[in-house]
Amino acid sequence: MSHPFVPSPNVAAIKESATIAVSQRARALRAAGRAIIDLGAGEPDFDTPAFILDATKSALDAGHTRYTAVDGILPLREVIAADATRRRAGRDAAVTAGEVVVSTGSKQSLHNATFALFGPGDDVLLAVPSWVSYVEMVGLARANPVGVPGDPSRGLKVTPALLERHATPRTRGLLLNSPTNPTGAVYDADELRAITDLAAARGWWLVSDEIYGRITYRLPEAPSVLDVAARRDNLVVVNGVAKAYAMTGFRIGWSVAPRPVSQAMTALQSHTTSNAATESQYATLAALTRTAEADAAVRAMVSEFRARRDAARAILSAIPGLDLVEPDGAFYLYCRAPGNDGTAFASRLLDEEGIAVVPGAAFGTPEWVRVSYAAARADVEAGMHAIVRTWQA
Ligand code: PLP
Repeated sequence: MSHPFVPSPNVAAIKESATIAVSQRARALRAAGRAIIDLGAGEPDFDTPAFILDATKSALDAGHTRYTAVDGILPLREVIAADATRRRAGRDAAVTAGEVVVSTGSKQSLHNATFALFGPGDDVLLAVPSWVSYVEMVGLARANPVGVPGDPSRGLKVTPALLERHATPRTRGLLLNSPTNPTGAVYDADELRAITDLAAARGWWLVSDEIYGRITYRLPEAPSVLDVAARRDNLVVVNGVAKAYAMTGFRIGWSVAPRPVSQAMTALQSHTTSNAATESQYATLAALTRTAEADAAVRAMVSEFRARRDAARAILSAIPGLDLVEPDGAFYLYCRAPGNDGTAFASRLLDEEGIAVVPGAAFGTPEWVRVSYAAARADVEAGMHAIVRTWQA
């Protein structure tokens, strides 16, 4: 008999990521011979820009294959700090490299932040629908995730009034994501400023996940909390290269946070993964410093995403009264399923049409489904026609 495994309380309650589960099911069906179009993916389908690949190879050739400082190579932290300083526009002291921690993906930055900031007895507000990992990260910190349902008349975004309604004396912070996964909604500068004002007034930490910041359609870039907040001593701002630069596999993210928070996050990281992969840090340095090439690459990707979004929306408009969040950023469409059961609708789409999408239950809103348009345009269009057929069947 094999040795029995009883999960420890640390992991017993963790749920598998529903978004990854959808992709796995789609892969399994494909392996079994079905033609499947995967509109469940959370990653760009583009190749990483060639100049970044060249910079990675050069870094390896130059021998950058050893450990670095736990919080990342100094030139990379300096360029991230300089960007943060520019956003503060003289409102407070320059952001220093010591306030930046480079991690193995923004996922690790978010985990480090929640683990460092929150603990038993703390309530942490999450704007719902929210990305699948927030609730698990808060749980791993043994804090209590408190969902704040977004306002359907405002693209499912939260407002200070909604946050206040769910606050308790135990509330210690909130996690916000704009542009938002799964809805594609973008908080404008005023909406964001109002939330930063509330967090500051209530003494909450505000962890702002800005990983989709450069993938926006109405503005050149989504506003960052660093652009609008009156102060930054309660802010942890997380970003990374995965989405905007098509570098998901490089696994680089970072945080900008007050020095004591950054020190705690670095100490935590020093006992888990140590530094993020060295050659990936150099690749990221190229992405962030060779701005002319990077901007051209980002522009080209965003322009293709926009074309797919427009094509998708045009096809979906055949559905009378469709409830669709205004997709201003990221690469997702979020719509309320017919009969208000997103899980049943996603299953039908996969079984009858071979189209994989993610049920909104994964994000705390079971009436909805998330459709990713990070797929070839022909696949996106075929998927949308299938959605219209299934919807109307
Ligand atoms: N935050 C959000 C909202 C995401 O959608 C994702 C990836 O799906 C991440 C963070 C993690 O990205 P990374 O690859 O940088 O860890």
